[in-house]
This record gives sequence, C-alpha cells and structure tokens, in this order.
Amino acid sequence: MEETTREKIVNILLKAKEPLTARKIAELLDLHSPRGEEIVYKHIPHIAKTIKRRFRGKLLLYFSPPICSNCGFKFNTIKPSKCPKCKSERILPARFVISSK
Ligand SMILES: [Zn+2]
Repeated sequence: MEETTREKIVNILLKAKEPLTARKIAELLDLHSPRGEEIVYKHIPHIAKTIKRRFRGKLLLYFSPPICSNCGFKFNTIKPSKCPKCKSERILPARFVISSK
C-alpha cells in the first residue's frame, strides 16, 4: 500500500533528529517545486490532529514560531507573509517537531 503524503510527513517528523522547516520536509518528500512547501503547510494542521489521536496525547506536534529577521517579531501563526510591526517579508520560517509533552 502506498503511503499518503500526510503519512510520509508524519514519518519524516517522527524520525527527524531536529525541528524541520516546511521547505526541508518538502525536500525530503522529493517535492522540489515551489508548491512543495505549500503542500506541507496544508497538511500540518491535520498532522497535528493525527499525532494527538495516534499517540493519545503523549506525543504532540510542536512548532517554533516564525520570526521576523528584520525586527525579531515572533508570530503565532505557522505561515505569516508579512511582519505586522515593520512590514518586512524576510521571515525565518517555523520549524516543526514531534515531541512528548
Ligand atoms: Zn518585523
């Protein structure tokens, strides 16, 4: 049976030794098109639910907040497009990791 993209992302995150950006996950999925990152971001909220259910809350998907590389503003969304403080679009992306509580 072929693994779905979502299942592949879950496995990549479970095996990862360090938090990964969506771009890195896309690379590991062999999704090298610019859309690859978008695809990963679309799956993330569902993956968070899958992990919680599968491990009965013992493991959870966490993310480090994206940070504006101009002013240091920390976002609370996973994929901001622009800094609300300084309007910069240079943003260090969120990193995702599956970890125990
Ligand atoms: Zn900023």
